[in-house]
This record gives sequence, C-alpha cells and structure tokens, in this order.
Amino acid sequence: MSLILGIDLGTTNSLAAYMTPAGPVVVRDASGNALVPSVVAFGEGGVTVGAAARAHAVENPLATIYSVKRLMGKGLADVGGDLKYLAYPVVAGRGGMACVKVAGREITPQELSAAVLREVKARSEAAIGAEIRQAVITVPAYFDDSQRQATRDAGRIAGLEVRRIVNEPTAAALAYGLGRKGDSTIAVYDLGGGTFDISILRISGGVFQVLATDGDTHLGGDDLDMELIELIASEIRDRLGRDMAFPPATRQAMRNFAEAAKIRLSSQDQARIEIDLGAAGRLERTITREEFEARAAKWVDHTIEHCRSALAGAGLTADRIDQVVMVGGCTRIPLVSRRVGEFFARVPYTAINPDEVVAMGAAVQAGILAGVQRDTLLLDVIPLSLGIETLGGAMGKLIMRNSTVPCQASETFTTYAAGQTSVDIHVLQGERELARDCRSLGRFQLRGIPPMPAGAPRISVTFLIDANGILNVSARELRSGREAGVQITPAHGLTSGEVDAMVKESYTHAIADLTEHRLIDLRNEAGRILAAIDKAVAEVGAVMSPAQRAAMDEAVGDLKAKMEGGDPDALYAAMKAANEAAMPLTQMQMDQVLQKTVMGRKIDEV
Ligand code: ADP
Ligand code: MG
Repeated sequence: MSLILGIDLGTTNSLAAYMTPAGPVVVRDASGNALVPSVVAFGEGGVTVGAAARAHAVENPLATIYSVKRLMGKGLADVGGDLKYLAYPVVAGRGGMACVKVAGREITPQELSAAVLREVKARSEAAIGAEIRQAVITVPAYFDDSQRQATRDAGRIAGLEVRRIVNEPTAAALAYGLGRKGDSTIAVYDLGGGTFDISILRISGGVFQVLATDGDTHLGGDDLDMELIELIASEIRDRLGRDMAFPPATRQAMRNFAEAAKIRLSSQDQARIEIDLGAAGRLERTITREEFEARAAKWVDHTIEHCRSALAGAGLTADRIDQVVMVGGCTRIPLVSRRVGEFFARVPYTAINPDEVVAMGAAVQAGILAGVQRDTLLLDVIPLSLGIETLGGAMGKLIMRNSTVPCQASETFTTYAAGQTSVDIHVLQGERELARDCRSLGRFQLRGIPPMPAGAPRISVTFLIDANGILNVSARELRSGREAGVQITPAHGLTSGEVDAMVKESYTHAIADLTEHRLIDLRNEAGRILAAIDKAVAEVGAVMSPAQRAAMDEAVGDLKAKMEGGDPDALYAAMKAANEAAMPLTQMQMDQVLQKTVMGRKIDEV
C-alpha cells in the first residue's frame, strides 16, 4: 500500500509526518530538524528552498519569497493590507490573481508553494526511502474554497495527489487523539511566525465542527522579534549618539539575533546578544526574560482578546471548553502558555511539539485514509457557507457552514426578464447577507434557455462538495432540460489545464534545465576554443615568449578543469582567460591569414 504523507504547509515553516502502526512519525533531516522554512529564493545558481533560501534574504530581498501562503487563492485586490509586509513585488496576474514578480517573470503562489512542497516531499522520500505520490495537506480553518483549491493545485504541481485538505486545528486535535473517547469542545490556540488563529471545535461522534474561528493574520513571532530589534536598535542609537536608519542587511542580521534571543528566553532566564558595531566597538547586552515578557505582554493580551471573541462567536464561556491545544512555535514562550492557561482555567496541552503537532495530525488523517488506523471516523465540515447571488445582490445560501462533507444541495431559480435565454450564475462563499460582502468564487452562464415569460423557466442549481471539500456546481433548466457546461474555476485560481501545464514544465526544473543547457553550450564553445588554440600552437607557436607560453598553458589547464565542473559562470570566465592568454597567437594567425588573402588575391588577379 502506498504511503500518504501528512504535510503542514505553514506561512513560516513547513514539515511532514507519516503514519506507522506505532503512531505518527515526523520527518527529520540528519541533524534532527523537522522544519523547512517556507521560503523560496531565486539566485544566479538557480532556485533554493528552505533554510538556505531564508539565509539568502539578506543579500537579495527582492528575490527571496516568503509568506506566500498569504497570497494563495487571492486576487491582488484581496491582499492589499498584506502587501506592506512583503518585500518582494506582488502583481496582478491572469484574472487579477495575486502573483509574485521575481527573476523577470510572474510566478503564481501555487507554483511557489509547490517548490516548498517539493522540498518537503524530497526530504520525506530520502528519510522514508520510498517514492511518495499522495498527501494530506493542512490549511487554516478560515481558508475559503479558492484558498483550499490553490493549496490542492500546489500539491499537484509538486507531483502529489492531495487526498484530503484538513483544517489545522482539526489536525492538532487528531494528533492528541481528542474525540476518540466521547464528545468534547476544544480550543486550539495557534501562535505561529506571523499569524494567530484561535479555533473552537466541537467533536461529536467523530465529526469535527468548527464552531468559531478568530485571530489576527498579522500577529505572531515576527512581532516579538521586532520588539527585541527595537530594544537593540535604540541602544545602538544611544551608543552612537545619533538617530540612524539601518540598512536592510543590518536589520536582517538584527532580526536573526532577536529571534535567537527570543527562542533562548523560552528555556532560559536570560539571553546574551553581542553585535559588532565597527568603529563604535561592540554592543554586548543581556536581555532578561522579565524584560522580554514586559515587551511581549501586549501581544499576548491581543491574542487573549481574540480568544474572548471566538468564545462569544461560538456562544460559549471559557468554562465550557474541555481541552486547550497549543499549536505554533510561539506557544513555547512561557508567558503565552501561562496566560492561555489562566484564561481558559485549564492546563493547555503541550506534550506534542507545538510546531509539529499539525503535521502529526495530518499524518493521522493520512493513516485513516490509507486504512492504517481504522478506529477513527473523521468527517470534515464546510468552513463557510456556499451560495449564489440572487436578485438585488443578495447571497442565497445553498450549503450552510459546518455541513459535513461530502454533501449536495439544489435550489431552483428563475429568470427575471421575458424571453431571457441565458442566466449568469455567480457562486459565492461567506456568511454575510450581501453578495458584495462575500467571496466571489466564480461565475458561469447557463445558455440556450428557450424564450419564456419572466419567471417561467425553472433553473435548478446543484452544489456538490466531494470528500475533499472541493466544490462542483451544475445548473439545469428543468423545462427544456438544458444543462450548463460548468467548470467552476475560482476567480483567483488555476484551471486544471494550467495546473497540468505547470506540472509538466515545473519552473524549478525549467531553471535547472536552463543552467544545464547553458553548460552544454559553453562546453561546446570551450571545446572549439581549445581546438583553435591547438591549431594556432602548431602553426605559429614559435612567436610566443616562454612567459606568454607558460601563462597560456596555465589558462588552458584551468579551462579544461572548468569544463569538467558544473559552474557555467566559472567556465565562462575560464574561456575568456584562455582566449586572452592565446592573444599573441591569434594576432599572428590573423596577420598570416591577411597576408595569404592578399597574396591569394594577387594570384587571382594574375
Ligand atoms: P507557522 O505556523 O506560521 O508556519 P511556526 O508554528 O513554525 O510557524 O512558528 C514559527 C515561530 O515560532 C517563529 O516566530 C519562531 O521564532 C517561533 N519559535 C520557534 N521556537 C520557539 C521557541 N522555542 N520559543 C519562542 N518562539 C519560538
Ligand atoms: Mg502553523
């Protein structure tokens, strides 16, 4: 039986786990690291992903793509507020889809996420020792259909059949085995690198229902890093006696220091920072946990406010929560677990590494699908209601949020004008009453309705949601039997044809291919140069001084070595050097050729 990988595709970090008869196992590299930073960097040597790409951000901020999860399945108009957090250019692609402009081309968020997934897949294959073709991928509970489809498409581009998209809080609950022993109501508190999510789940008879979600898409570990950066920066300014703006590379270095200090303060009472200030000496500073907590408190308070409103949204009070599950690297901060514990009056679950718990839960779900684990029934629910726009711009809901999947719903609509032969159907997702306040998932047209008086046609619209939570819409005019050929593509998604094309010419391969192509061309050219030099040595070698000859032999030797190597730039440089070293020969040959030509002409002219 083929293995199904469980993948947590995070805003900051991604990782995978897989199910074994003994339970879920997290994929780690040789040094024990599970996390792959969700960063893709485009450099001269090609595309890098993960920790290497993240380190690259200092030199090349415009070509280092992070937080791409914020763009998934969105139009440029929807990401407006996010743009100021992204250093790289985001542009409107086809149909207004938010795309990243990098390395001279527009790349979709799906392709960028696919690069991260491909890295996670490759690491997993190396660790497990088998090819992996299927996966379960997690998404935030509030992700709409278009964001979920984009995630699925990213999986397909990476060569993975996405068997199920699972909500992150559901996965966290699964990792703890919650819901296997009776019904319960749980709170999942997830504080990651740049986002905070609080979800209230009701698990009843194996069905996971999202009662409420709340949070802040711009609150996380990054804000705590900023607090420490500000602390360091203000001391550097004091030291230098002037207000100064730090160049990006310095800010990035400060960020690295700040994050390391923050992480150390989770397990130690103090962290030491040493920064070389050049002429101004060194800044050495010990930051205590109290100092950090004083600065972190306001952010933690914000998260508690969101917990309060999530509870209100679910119509519950804190004492109705049976368990609290901690997710995300930042919940390792002692202040965070203390405050969350106080608020819910429960000791939060922290036994499983908070940055691995979602991947573990995805592996549990994968195990259920693969039949490894049989005793858990898991049904997912629709996170947001689905419907269509009706007369006057209202939202007509067909499937209510929290319906379990798979499910189907139909409703009959009619025409508004006499003789109307086509209707536009606008598919929406959201809880608001007006179409304009809901997310537009796409539009399609039902054509060829026989002309009838207004209100006479009976158009039946059917929404079918498969077990993956993916929507299929069909429409049929009942009197004429006319059916609309509906392929619903989310307004900011990819068509299946586009996904197929991306699978075929996956851009990382394309760039790798380009490098390979260039190497082949350069090697051919270098071969021609070497042959020409050999010929010149045979013909006019005697004109060179011993020093010129030694320099040329060295350049030729270096060129031969570079031809064996894989670095096109180094090869190109060696070619130029060899050409220059052979210049006296070339010059002499040219002279001879000129002479011959002149002589030849003379002969011809005779
Ligand atoms: P996401 O779900 O957003 O992809 P993670 O759950 O991996 O992200 O969380 C990443 C954040 O957690 C980063 O800000 C990182 O600095 C922080 N973090 C990781 N380990 C610790 C720790 N031991 N103490 C405090 N913060 C931590
Ligand atoms: Mg996460």
